[in-house]
Amino acid sequence: MKICTKCILPEAFPGINFDDKGVCNFCRDFKKEELMEEKATYLAKFKELIAQCKGKSDYDCTVSYSGGKDSTYTLYLLKDVFKLRVLSLTFDNGFISEQAFKNIRTVTENLGVDSIVYKINFHLLKKIFAAGIKESMYSPKALERASTICNSCIGLIKFSFLKIALEKRIPMMGWGWSPGQAPIRSSIMRINPSLFKATQETYRKPMHQVSGDEINRYFVSEKMFERKEDFPYNVSPLAFMDYDEANIIKKIGSLGWIAPVGLDANSTNCIMNSYANQVHIEKLGFHPYVFEIAGMVRSGVMGRQEGYEKIYKILDDKEAVACVKIKLGLVP
Ligand SMILES: [Zn+2]
Repeated sequence: MKICTKCILPEAFPGINFDDKGVCNFCRDFKKEELMEEKATYLAKFKELIAQCKGKSDYDCTVSYSGGKDSTYTLYLLKDVFKLRVLSLTFDNGFISEQAFKNIRTVTENLGVDSIVYKINFHLLKKIFAAGIKESMYSPKALERASTICNSCIGLIKFSFLKIALEKRIPMMGWGWSPGQAPIRSSIMRINPSLFKATQETYRKPMHQVSGDEINRYFVSEKMFERKEDFPYNVSPLAFMDYDEANIIKKIGSLGWIAPVGLDANSTNCIMNSYANQVHIEKLGFHPYVFEIAGMVRSGVMGRQEGYEKIYKILDDKEAVACVKIKLGLVP
């Protein structure tokens, strides 16, 4: 398999081409100086937004908190560095590791933030995840960045958490997207109700086909879409703040965060991840995290060798995959 000599995108990635030195079009188009300038602009923009939003409601900002390393660091940044009154929201998809749960409890306690764990009916989730093993439920574009299973989960998180933010009139929603996941230009963005409604439908429809009307309660309702002025800003601070994995782990370690063991290299919280990745690679020929990791290699926040290992190292995860299959009811 041909892999870009600068980042790590493979030839199976949609829309890729290589020059005679083996460098991909994504790397040829990338301009590092521009990115550094934009980071400073967006940090300033975020400070302005804080001045505008702070104190308007019981909470200034939600943080979608999986217990993984990036969202732990995001929670810390928003609470301690930017001094926001934060509400931590955790989506329990039935596959959060024990250690991730312990981390959620310890870190929210040590930081002094309120925390809600939203556990969705697992029978319903099981149907949706199992359907995602058989078919690619979402658009090819959505599948460039994440597996079908991750898309289902992220979709439910986005829509149900926006619902919570709207109910509580919270003006900002914080996300722990890594610099490879969140492009800088979308790192601070007010949610546009009509665009959001259209996106929501591309997720709600396939899930509705699998599970019926019960799914509707996790999505933003018609009535809520009328409250246009209450729609919050999405903020992804890791896109414009310094991102250094070693520093991040050191900082969150001081808050009591402990790295889970036995999970794959790209998720420090979800047990289902390596199976979801495996299914995606079999179907589409590329790893669902490769775009994100390649982006971090390209921008210099991660070494190429380290990125390569996260994506292409063969994992011994038979046991984890077998557990997930049993829990999803795919094998007896
Ligand atoms: Zn490249």
